[in-house]
Amino acid sequence: MNTKEGYLKFNCVWEDASFDFPDNLFETINPWRNKLHEKGLVGCNSEGIGYGNVSIKTSDGRFIITGTATGHKKTLSKNDYALITGYNISENRVFCTGRTRASAETMSHAAVYESNGTITSVIHIHQLQLWNNLKGVLPTTDAAIEYGTPQMAFEIMRLFKETGVSRQGIFVMGGHEEGIISFGKNLDEAGKVILEYFKSLGK
Ligand SMILES: [Zn+2]
Repeated sequence: MNTKEGYLKFNCVWEDASFDFPDNLFETINPWRNKLHEKGLVGCNSEGIGYGNVSIKTSDGRFIITGTATGHKKTLSKNDYALITGYNISENRVFCTGRTRASAETMSHAAVYESNGTITSVIHIHQLQLWNNLKGVLPTTDAAIEYGTPQMAFEIMRLFKETGVSRQGIFVMGGHEEGIISFGKNLDEAGKVILEYFKSLGK
C-alpha cells in the first residue's frame, strides 16, 4: 500500500491482442504522433523513460491511444497503439486491448473526453520551458496532485467546470513537471494549439 494518502496504483487490465484499427483513424493519428516526436514533444528521456501520448476517439465513443514504452520509436505502427475499452476513474482502472498496453496517463485523456463530448482528440506532451512559461497562466491543475492518480482525473474535470479551458483547448498539469495537455474537435485542432505555443519559444 502506498503511503501517500488517496493514492491508488494505476491498474491496467490488458488483453494482448490486436484490435480493429480503422485506416482513416490510423492515418490521422500517426502523422501527428510522428510530428510531435520529431519535435521532442513526445519521446523518451535520457533514462529511456517514454513521455507524451496521443489519443483519438473511435466512432463508437471509445478511444485509441499510443502505447506505453513507445516513446523511443521514431515512427509507430498500428501495433504500437491500444484501444481503451473501458475505465473506472475512482478505482484508477483501465481496460485495454492491443499488442501494447496503455500508458498510465490514459486516465487523463479519459477525463478530458468525459468533460466535453465534442472532443475527439487529446495530446499530452512534455516541454519544460513551455510548462514553466504557461503554468498558472493557462488553466493549471493543482500542483499537489500527481499524474496517474484518480485525483488528477477529477482535477482535470474540475478545470472544465470552473475555467475557460474548453475554449482555450490547452491546460498545464501543475503537479506533473513538463506536462501539458491539448485537445480539440479533431486532431489538427489539438495539434495546432500545441505547435503555436511551441513556436512562441522560437522553436
Ligand atoms: Zn506526462
